Amino acid sequence: MPFYDLKCDKCNEEFNIMAKMSDREQKLIKCPKCGSVDLSAVFKSVSIIQSHKQEGPQCPNFGACGGCCGH
Ligand SMILES: [Zn+2]
Repeated sequence: MPFYDLKCDKCNEEFNIMAKMSDREQKLIKCPKCGSVDLSAVFKSVSIIQSHKQEGPQCPNFGACGGCCGH
């Protein structure tokens, strides 16, 4: 099951919850603070993805990766 970073639209409580995708689609996830189902997803992974873009370590399969790593 995926983890969701969610934020309550009503009380602005941010929380992390593990739930099925169908639970989120059917609004079965509730705010632990006020019980509201009006939740917004919080995406915190953007900065992590960007930090990985810098000149990283060389592909361990250099020459045999088929260009999947950009080399
Ligand atoms: Zn709330």
